[in-house]
Amino acid sequence: MANNKNHSEEHCSFCGRPASQAGMLLSGLGGYICADCSREAEKIFKQQSMGGQTSKYELQLADIPTPKAIKEFLDLYVIGQDAAKRVLSVAVYNHYKRLRYNQEHGDSNDVEIEKSNIVMVGETGTGKTLLARTIARLLKVPFCIADATTLTEAGYVGDDVENVLVRLLQAADYDVAACERGIVFIDEIDKIARKSENTSITRDVSGEGVQQALLKLLEGAEVNVPPEGGRKHPEQKLIKINTRNILFICGGAFDGVERAIAARLNSNVIGFKGDEKRQELDRDNMLQYVQPMDLKKFGLIPELVGRFPVLTALQPLDRDALRRILTEPKNALTKQYEELFKMDEVTLVFDPKALDLVVDRAVEYHLGARGLRSIMEGIMTDLMFDLPSLPKGSTYTLTREEAEKKIRL
Ligand code: ADP
Repeated sequence: MANNKNHSEEHCSFCGRPASQAGMLLSGLGGYICADCSREAEKIFKQQSMGGQTSKYELQLADIPTPKAIKEFLDLYVIGQDAAKRVLSVAVYNHYKRLRYNQEHGDSNDVEIEKSNIVMVGETGTGKTLLARTIARLLKVPFCIADATTLTEAGYVGDDVENVLVRLLQAADYDVAACERGIVFIDEIDKIARKSENTSITRDVSGEGVQQALLKLLEGAEVNVPPEGGRKHPEQKLIKINTRNILFICGGAFDGVERAIAARLNSNVIGFKGDEKRQELDRDNMLQYVQPMDLKKFGLIPELVGRFPVLTALQPLDRDALRRILTEPKNALTKQYEELFKMDEVTLVFDPKALDLVVDRAVEYHLGARGLRSIMEGIMTDLMFDLPSLPKGSTYTLTREEAEKKIRL
C-alpha cells in the first residue's frame, strides 16, 4: 500500500494537481476538485450571474432614508460636525433619488439630475472617514474606501486609479449593477495636489496624472477593470463598469489651505464693508470659509474641482468635543473597554477626572480624536493584562491618579 502512492493518487480534474500538492480533494461523479479550483469556480459563477438584480443590494426605493433620518443615524456615532452631517445627508438622499429618477425615466429623461460628488475638508482625526464609514453602515448600496496616496505610485498610467472600482466591485460581491450605483470614499485627496497652481514645463506627474485619471472616473466613463485588481494584461477577462451613477466622496486635510482662504477673504473685504466683515471672521477656524477656488489654489486641477459640486468643512475638535467622543458615541472608547471587562465579569468604572486627564493629554499632544485611543490604550494595557486575575464580580475604578501613573510609565 505504501509504495503505490504515485499511481493511485487522486488528481484535481480541473488543475490536474495531485492531492499531495493541492491538498484535500472533493470527489464528484467521475472527478475531483481542489480547494483552489472550487474557489475560482465560485468567483466565476458570481461574476457571471451577478449581472442583474440581486437581493443584497436591490434598490429598495420605498425605504430611502430621509436626510433627517440619515443625520440622526450619524449623530449616534459622530460627535459634532453638524454642517458636514447635513451636507452628507442631503447628498446621499439625492444620490438615492437620482438613482430612482433614472430607474423610473430610463434614458428618456428630459432633466438630467447631476451627481453631487462631495469633498470634505478637515484636519486629520476630525471624523471624515468615520462619517463615511457610518454612512456606509446605513446604506443599501456598496461602499468602499480608497486612499489617494496609494494611487500616486504608478498613477500616471491610469490603471491604478481604476483599482478603486475593483474595490467597489468586490464590496458589491461582483454584482456589476449594484457596483454601478455605489459610493466610493477617497481619503487624502489633498495628497494628489500638484505642487503649484501653474502648470509648468516640468510636469508634476505623480499628482496631476492621478487627478486626470480620477477625473475620468468622476465624469462618468465606461471603465474596464480586472476583477482581481492589479495590472491589466492582454488575456485577462475584464469587467466593464459604468461610473455615471457612482457617488464619490473625498476627504482631505488640505494643510495650509487656510492661507489661501485668508488671502482671498482679505483681498475681498478691502474696499467693501471692510472692517465690519473682517471682525466677523473666525480666525482660528478658517477652513469653514473654504471655497472651490481655494482647492484649486491648493493644487487640484480646475476640472476636478468642478466635478465636486458639494464642498464642506469639518470643525477642529475642541476639548468639549473630545470629552464627549470618549463616552457618548454608540461605540465610544469607554464603552468598548467596559464591554471587554464585562466579558471577564469585572465592572469597569471610569472616574470622570481620569477621562479629563486623557482629554488634556490629547489636546497637549495635538493628536485630536486619533490620540484618544492611543492614550487610552497606554493606560488600559496593563490593566487588561491583569484583568483575568481580578476577582469575578468585582468593580474596578480607574482613578485620575492611576491614569496619571500609567501615562507616565
Ligand atoms: P479623519 O478626519 O482623519 O478621516 P477619522 O474619521 O479617521 O479622521 O477619525 C479618527 C478616529 O477618531 C475615529 O476612529 C474616531 O474614533 C475618532 N473621531 C474623530 N472624529 C470624531 C467625531 N467627530 N466623533 C466621534 N469620534 C471621532
